[in-house]
Amino acid sequence: MVHTIYIEEAISEHPRVQDICDRFPKAVRIPCGRYGEVFNRRSQNFRLQKQWPALILANKHDHFVLGTPEGYGIGSSRNYYFSHMLNCPYDCRYCFLQGMYQSAHYVLFVNYEDFQFEVDRIVNIENDTCFFTGYDCDSLAFESVTSFTADFLPLFQKNSAALFELRTKSVNLKPLLAHPPLPNVIVAYSLTPARIGEQYEDKAPPLRRRIEAIKQLQDYGWPVGLRFDPIIFNSGYREDYTRLYEEVFSVVDVQQLHSASMGPFRLPKAVHETVVKLYPKEKLFAAAAYSHGGMISYQEEIESDMLKFCEAELLKRIPADKYFPCRYG
Ligand code: SF4
Repeated sequence: MVHTIYIEEAISEHPRVQDICDRFPKAVRIPCGRYGEVFNRRSQNFRLQKQWPALILANKHDHFVLGTPEGYGIGSSRNYYFSHMLNCPYDCRYCFLQGMYQSAHYVLFVNYEDFQFEVDRIVNIENDTCFFTGYDCDSLAFESVTSFTADFLPLFQKNSAALFELRTKSVNLKPLLAHPPLPNVIVAYSLTPARIGEQYEDKAPPLRRRIEAIKQLQDYGWPVGLRFDPIIFNSGYREDYTRLYEEVFSVVDVQQLHSASMGPFRLPKAVHETVVKLYPKEKLFAAAAYSHGGMISYQEEIESDMLKFCEAELLKRIPADKYFPCRYG
C-alpha cells in the first residue's frame, strides 16, 4: 500500500500519473520539482523508509538504455539494460539496492515511451541484442501499479529479433497469462534454497510458489530462465543447493527451458560499506568481506569451491549450452 505519492510538477497531467494516482485515492499527493530532491536527500534512513516507502512519479530525461556490466548475458553479443523503476517492494538482505540508494522510496519513471523509442533505435541498427530489466527493481513485483510488463510486451512482439529478460521473484502472472507467449521474452526467476529465502528474502514469495509460477508459465508457453544468483555460502550449502535443484527440476521442463545462470554473492565495495553500516551484526556480510577487483565477495577458495559444486550439480540436470555463468571482477 502506498500512503504518499510525490509527483514531479512537469508530469502531473501525464495519463500514467493520473491512472496510478486513481489507484491510491487516499494517498497524500505532494508536488516536487525533480525526483532527486526527495530521493537523494541526505541523512535518510533506508531501514525506516523501507517500512512505508513513498512512491515518486518522475520523468527520466536521458540514459534510457545502458550497456550491461562485462560478463553479464545469456548468449547475445550485445547486452543492454533499462530501469523504469528504482527500488523494490521485496526486502532481500543481500540486495545491492539498499547500499546503492539513500532512499527506500520507489521511483517510477512514467515516460515509458522514451525507453521504448531507444530500444527501437538500438534494435534497428544492431543485431543479436538482449535487453534486461530487473536490475534496479524486480520486473514484475509492482506490476499492479506500473503495468510495465503489459506495456512492454508489444514492443518486443514487434522487435522479435531482440531478446527481453524480465527478472523476478514475483508470482503475479496476470500480464503474462493475458498475452500470447513470445519466444524472445524470457521470464527469469531468481531462485535460492528455501532455507536461505526464509532467512534473507523478506516479503518475496517463497520458493514453492515461484516453482509453481514457473510451471504455470511453461505450461502456457513462455520461455523461462532460472537465475541461481546470488549463490549464498553457509556450512550446509551442498545440501541446500542439491535440494534446491531437486525441487526445481522435478517440475521444470528442461527441454523448454531457455537458460540458467549463476553468480556468487558479491557487492561493489562502496555498496558493501553502506550495507554493513545498516546491518553491522549481519553474518552474511561478515562472511563475504574479501575484495576481488572492486567487488566484495567470499574468500577466493570458498567462492571457487562453492561455484564448482553448484555448477557441477546444475550441469547434471541441464545441457551446457543452456548455462551462462555470471562472471565479474
Ligand atoms: S527481489 Fe531483487 S531487487 Fe527486490 S529486494 Fe530482492 S534482490 Fe533486491
